[in-house]
Amino acid sequence: MRLDHIGIAVNSIEEALKTYQSGLGFSLSDIATVEHQKVRVAVLPLGESRIELLEPTDLISPIRKFLDKRGEGIHHLCFKVRNLAEKLQQLEGAGLQRIDSIPCRGLENRKIAFLHPKSTHGVLIELVEEKL
Ligand code: ZN
Repeated sequence: MRLDHIGIAVNSIEEALKTYQSGLGFSLSDIATVEHQKVRVAVLPLGESRIELLEPTDLISPIRKFLDKRGEGIHHLCFKVRNLAEKLQQLEGAGLQRIDSIPCRGLENRKIAFLHPKSTHGVLIELVEEKL
């Protein structure tokens, strides 16, 4: 598996870009909204992977809940897999717990699934199917 991105929860993408773009020198490749997840995402390329700044668009956004509970910071790690359905089956066999029973669609309409942090030592892990 390879790292696809690191998701960072922020209160404001514009504020965070002052640090990540102007300060740390990352370039911004895109800002998009994933409607059904109530999140606005800024994409900052980082080698073969990227950083995603995640800003809630709604009070019921999971990112809003995370910010209220824990404040800004690393929200999840995302790994690329060849075949998502196969990988999920294998992980379930190994006792890892999924958050959604059916993979959903994330940014750029990619097929994604999340693993529950309870089963991954406290880290929310997202898996994304690689487009071949
Ligand atoms: Zn993600």
